Amino acid sequence: MMIRVTDFSKVYGRTVAVDGISFDVGAGQILGLLGPNGAGKTTTLRTLAGILLPTRGQLSVDGCDVVRQAICAKQRLAYVPDEPGLFEALTVWEHLQFTAAAYRIRDFAPQANELLQRFELDSQRDLVVHELSRGMRQKVAIVCAYLQNPRAMVFDEPLTGLDPRGIRTVKESIRQHASAGMTAIVSSHLLPLVEDLCTHLLVLHQGRVRFQGSIDQARALLAGSQRPASLEEVFFQITRDDQRDDQQTAC
Ligand code: ATP
Repeated sequence: MMIRVTDFSKVYGRTVAVDGISFDVGAGQILGLLGPNGAGKTTTLRTLAGILLPTRGQLSVDGCDVVRQAICAKQRLAYVPDEPGLFEALTVWEHLQFTAAAYRIRDFAPQANELLQRFELDSQRDLVVHELSRGMRQKVAIVCAYLQNPRAMVFDEPLTGLDPRGIRTVKESIRQHASAGMTAIVSSHLLPLVEDLCTHLLVLHQGRVRFQGSIDQARALLAGSQRPASLEEVFFQITRDDQRDDQQTAC
């Protein structure tokens, strides 16, 4: 498995943000991570990226434990946070140079130029981040993540601030990389995005897994209803406060 999370918990002081969750994501799969505010999504993604330490449990990327083999895991997974952490005084091109140096990517310029063109950032290449719009910053973070040539990518709300063309480019790039074997996790509140893009679904609620399975299995949950269930209906059904997680886990 490319990403494996086993019995993972994270406690902040008295808050149990994640409570013993387990899931796997295989090569080429795109997992949609859903859940209401405070469900534990960002905590899970930041722990996978090696930014937070787990309180309990194991998380691994391509067999590398994110705590004990942190460098190995970080070489394989790129993280695009919801608020891109960029250097205000560096230009777009300097971000790419910095990423290439940090990840020891040789001859990065052709790929970097291609990415800038694809994400329509080529005319901003010499602007400092301070001069960029929010959507442009988001695209810089995404371009830097792709430059790492990761085996797995984790996106936290990747479309925030992007215009329709940017949204289409990001969706197409995720699909294209997944069909070449990359694994992706995409956390989003945009249910149509998840329905359109993802092959699998993980729903968290109050730090616990409420559903995991394929998108089709999610729809089949409401199979008794007269019309095909939309992901929105499934989401509200799964995250009703009185649901028990053991009834909702499809696999
Ligand atoms: P959202 O959809 O609002 O982004 P989320 O599913 O990403 O939510 P998390 O950010 O993982 O949720 O938060 C899960 C829980 O952990 C929440 O109860 C939150 O208040 C708590 N939490 C998150 N970060 C911290 C922190 N640094 N210190 C204390 N509590 C935290």
